[in-house]
Amino acid sequence: MPGQTIDLSHQELRDLAAAWLMGGLDSAEAQRFALHLGGCDECYATVVQLSDALAALPVDDEP
Ligand SMILES: [Zn+2]
Repeated sequence: MPGQTIDLSHQELRDLAAAWLMGGLDSAEAQRFALHLGGCDECYATVVQLSDALAALPVDDEP
């Protein structure tokens, strides 16, 4: 392994952000995600934005 197990790229993080917000990541992925977020203001802002967008979606959709 090339010492890059912890480091997610920004693109990877964006791809995982929606899944993470909905609790869809496994624990290893969630940990890597949190580690990247903790050190990356850019991706943190992206996640906050996405979180707002998800919160704005109508969730009380009756089946
Ligand atoms: Zn980042």
